[in-house]
Amino acid sequence: MFRVGIGTDKHRLVFGKQLVLGGVIVDSPKGAFGHSDADVLAHAIIDAILGAAGLGDIGHHFPDSDPKWKDANSIEMLKKTVETLKNAGYHVVNVDASVHLEKPKLGRLKGEMAGNLSAALGLPRHMINIKAKTGEGSGEVGTGETIEAYAVAMVETNT
Ligand code: MG
Repeated sequence: MFRVGIGTDKHRLVFGKQLVLGGVIVDSPKGAFGHSDADVLAHAIIDAILGAAGLGDIGHHFPDSDPKWKDANSIEMLKKTVETLKNAGYHVVNVDASVHLEKPKLGRLKGEMAGNLSAALGLPRHMINIKAKTGEGSGEVGTGETIEAYAVAMVETNT
């Protein structure tokens, strides 16, 4: 049986924070503000996977009230999510995601992000697709106030 899930995430961009996306440190004057490393791409994918398997959401599995997840590496959170999924009898089939960020342009980094996600998810590289968009100068993304990510994941029951 196949199931699909959607995940979204959004963080404020602030000066003095590192910007981490798909486990890659992006050269940017601003980074995403959050409890963990605020990797919106990893967070959206975690929610998509959990959603697909009917396992709730990231806030349930990694509560920001728990000091354990303070400055946590989101790639490690993703690996833990894959374990949770496995224990529930599912595996990930493919992931598609979009990151919305005004600048810098992410084109050059998409391959590295996909590589990190491929390793964390235990998926072949061609089953992961990452897209990058800007806000065209409008809205919270366009003015550089926020970074957003959207992901869908398909999971299949283990047989
Ligand atoms: Mg988040």
